[in-house]
Amino acid sequence: MGRGEIAVIGLGRSGRAVAELIARYGGRAYVSDAGSGAGVRAAADELVAQGIAVDVGHHDLERISRSLAVVASPGVPPTAPPLVTAAQVGIPILSEVEAALAFLPNTTRYIAVTGTNGKTTVTALIHHLLTALGAKAVAAGNIGTPVSVLAMQNMPPEWIALEMSSFQLHDTPSLAPTVGVLTNLAPDHLDRYASIDEYYGDKMRLFATATARSRWVTNADDPEVQRRVRGIPGTHHRFTVDANTDRSVTGEHPSCEGVADLTHGEVTIFGTSFMRRADIPLLGDHNVANVLAAVLAVAVADPAHRTPDARALMAAAIATFGGMPHRLQVIGEVDGVQWINDSKATNVSSARVAVAGMIRPIVVLLGGRHKGESYETLIPLLQQHARLVIAYGEAAAQIEGDLAGHVPLERLGSSFEEVVSRARAVAQPGDAVLLSPACSSFDMFSNYEERGTTFQRLAVET
Ligand code: ADP
Repeated sequence: MGRGEIAVIGLGRSGRAVAELIARYGGRAYVSDAGSGAGVRAAADELVAQGIAVDVGHHDLERISRSLAVVASPGVPPTAPPLVTAAQVGIPILSEVEAALAFLPNTTRYIAVTGTNGKTTVTALIHHLLTALGAKAVAAGNIGTPVSVLAMQNMPPEWIALEMSSFQLHDTPSLAPTVGVLTNLAPDHLDRYASIDEYYGDKMRLFATATARSRWVTNADDPEVQRRVRGIPGTHHRFTVDANTDRSVTGEHPSCEGVADLTHGEVTIFGTSFMRRADIPLLGDHNVANVLAAVLAVAVADPAHRTPDARALMAAAIATFGGMPHRLQVIGEVDGVQWINDSKATNVSSARVAVAGMIRPIVVLLGGRHKGESYETLIPLLQQHARLVIAYGEAAAQIEGDLAGHVPLERLGSSFEEVVSRARAVAQPGDAVLLSPACSSFDMFSNYEERGTTFQRLAVET
């Protein structure tokens, strides 16, 4: 076997769903996963019961090398043997999203979101706004439901808010969103990309199918983004949280349709007042940027979303948005100290915006697995806000090397209990303890959720 098959790499939720989708439409899927834990085996049993070929514990590379195409799950790096084999033999490698888009009815429209930071927040906001407008909408892609699951539904949704990572964009050449959103570009994933340019290049694949009818929403405050989107066909809509800089005068780029004037606390869309900053229930100016991105994207997606009634519904929906777990999430206050879980800040730029958004003096927990970036750009903000930086985990020495002498810093090891109890001992009433680690969690935890949940548990323990 092998010839005429589609090889699916990984038995996670999206791998399983795409295999079922292929089988549903009469194709033959061969699914393999290098893992062999209980979860993987249970998933395998389910597929085998549907007549789908599955291997657990290994990939049959010879079989994969004879397949028509390979569908890679989002977590599988390009260096994984099945993908290396596919690339060597010249077999197309597709993302799960790419495979699933082909099966979606053309009545389903999607707004695709990418960028270094803020993808999940903006995607969730778009989903929240569309739902508030009465549309049948689902959040999918990197967040929520695999697109393959939606493609198999009898009544697929009218709208999908689609979060796309750079890795997924790499293998989704036919992506053609109703609106595409680029939140920002900053160094990240230097552990998986050979260069920043290669990483940014994958992000820019959002625009690969651009035509004069395309609509794009981009961040006017990010020069790298504006430099790269210049000249891309379609209508460009921009947002800024820096209302004082009228870039249309400098000719840097045309004026913005989403503007937050943070000095006066006013948020404006298409030149008219939309809502007050104070009514956005999220910490940090970056979240105001996220709100602008989402509102603009939904507004330009359909004329019905631009009526006065629709604007009022959207403003009310933003005011009730519950925020996202592990993203500047205020856990609570213990003995006058606020505890903030920003475990999802897995790169330096996201930790930087977190620190910038702080109002109280902070004890900052920085550490985890180093991803290749220098921590030095944090220095000015830490000097302004930090009572103490606690550097911990695998990256502790690197962090200490970059920051010591510039900000008060203590270096600890890899006991998270010890890190949290030291933070508790140092924090004064009126302070905040901020976990915004700027690193991945994999040295001490299985993922950022586990790191955040552990922080949350230890924070409220006395
Ligand atoms: P992503 O899905 O791109 O990783 P998230 O919405 O999950 O983004 O947010 C991850 C972290 O990035 C947050 O904890 C926050 O610190 C930071 N962040 C969120 N939005 C922005 C933004 N617009 N600009 C910079 N950093 C941001």
